[in-house]
Amino acid sequence: MKKAGLQPDHMSITGILVACSHGGLVEDGWRVFKSMKNEYGLEPRLEHYGCMVDLLGRAGLLSEAYEFVEKMPIRPNSVIWRTLLEACVNHNNLVLAKKVKKRLNKLDRYHDGDYVLLSNVRNSMRARRVNKKAGASSISVDQIIHEFISGDNSHPQSQDIRDFLDRIFESIKDTGYTPLTSNVLHDIEEEEKEHTLGYHSEKLAVAFALLSVKDTRTIRVMKNIRICCDCHSFMKHVSAKFGREIIVRDRNRFHHFINGSCSCQDYW
Ligand SMILES: [Zn+2]
Ligand SMILES: [Zn+2]
Repeated sequence: MKKAGLQPDHMSITGILVACSHGGLVEDGWRVFKSMKNEYGLEPRLEHYGCMVDLLGRAGLLSEAYEFVEKMPIRPNSVIWRTLLEACVNHNNLVLAKKVKKRLNKLDRYHDGDYVLLSNVRNSMRARRVNKKAGASSISVDQIIHEFISGDNSHPQSQDIRDFLDRIFESIKDTGYTPLTSNVLHDIEEEEKEHTLGYHSEKLAVAFALLSVKDTRTIRVMKNIRICCDCHSFMKHVSAKFGREIIVRDRNRFHHFINGSCSCQDYW
């Protein structure tokens, strides 16, 4: 755009900041953010501050992110605080997480995600009718689409799939897989906590694929919401252990798992 002499607007800057955030490009992100005002005369909006918090948070610069939010000239909304909260939990900084949670509590008391995150009171959730979106993954095997819902038993081969999944867990323990329990907290936005972590829909889908397709075809899964850290780590280990490529399309992007690593380089 610069080369073509075009002036970036708020929208294009948002795009660049999101890209920086997903690529872990902290310096570049800062530079672009600052250039809004200095070079282009654009006043950053709430979403630009949000992008910066996400960028810093993902990179683990939590104090910097916290300070950034504190100093924002616009009043931070719950999305900003939640972004920071998620980063804190993700980087295991529970002290700061609690601090952020307090700020968030003042803003909205009924948001479902962090309600689950720190209070974990199912019954009162039910009482207040806060509904969570169920994680669902679909996979096509021999031209038939199979859909899996997290923690759900409705697939006709459900028991076999779960048994096989348990065997997979056992076998990838050898290669260093440990269930990321704090990650139950990480997955704060949409997915249920509790026991379902082990049975998140994409794990069920992949177990089913391994069970039904014995050759080395790439396993392709579509997921409605974002993949959690535990499933992400699971996919990496499975791709290495079973020598299978796995592609998971989640709400944000494609993850291409091969030989124990993912194309997103753990930024998503
Ligand atoms: Zn998961
Ligand atoms: Zn990935």
